[in-house]
Amino acid sequence: MIKRLLLVLLVSAASASGQTTPFGTKAKANAATAAETASATKGASKAVEEEVDNSVVITPFRPLTPAEAKTSRTFQLSKVNKFGFTETTKELQRLYSAFATQRIIDGSPAGSSKATGYLATVNYALVQDLGDNRFLAKAAWPAAGPNEVLAAGADTMAVLLLEKPAKVGDTGKITGMHVGTVALLFTANYAPLTGKRFTLRREAFVECATLEDSPTGLQKFVETVNAGAEMSATTDEQVACKKCGGFGQIREPQKGSLTDKLTPCAECIKGKVVISVETKFIP
Ligand SMILES: [Zn+2]
Repeated sequence: MIKRLLLVLLVSAASASGQTTPFGTKAKANAATAAETASATKGASKAVEEEVDNSVVITPFRPLTPAEAKTSRTFQLSKVNKFGFTETTKELQRLYSAFATQRIIDGSPAGSSKATGYLATVNYALVQDLGDNRFLAKAAWPAAGPNEVLAAGADTMAVLLLEKPAKVGDTGKITGMHVGTVALLFTANYAPLTGKRFTLRREAFVECATLEDSPTGLQKFVETVNAGAEMSATTDEQVACKKCGGFGQIREPQKGSLTDKLTPCAECIKGKVVISVETKFIP
């Protein structure tokens, strides 16, 4: 389902006469100039002069940075709350909450799929209708992803693909999946750029729904894993810094001195580093 949405987002809505190559617009301008020259002598076709290119072309510009975890570990359901193991109900609940926010509800047999981009709550005000439920919007969203790979937006123009029809001026809030930066070639119809045809490069989001973080959801999740489904959640975890051994400072013996020289470790904060960890669930 998401794939279909992405196709809709990226598919060119160009009319039959729309230009899709970087040189298309220029070629058309040249044609218009040539037509003007011709009309001076023998009154050639007015159609070329009056033609207005209102096509909307959305193409991928910069793909999203994949959410790759730095390290992975397993969480064994059968060990939960067993003496001598780290698996606890509380930890399972925490990881399930993360899992739920990283899954997109769709038409797949499992009922949901792993989100391929960062999910963020996007507040928006629609500025221009681009057709096919795609909109140019003034938007705001918090930073997302490991080490905030997706920077926060504040009063930022973005391209949105909404689930339901909407109109210019509408404001709202969606759960949006970031699908990277797109190049949007269009003719603006909002002040002060009305009538100006140009290309904007902006972050794009597809509206989606995530799994509900509820006891019922957790129970179903446990059953799915026990039935053999491969599930994982990615979280940011604080771990001890390897460089300084969690001490937070680097110790250097000084010649002729009984005390060591201490320099703060450049790779951590007080001995801790935050890394992205993928937890795979096993029965
Ligand atoms: Zn360190």
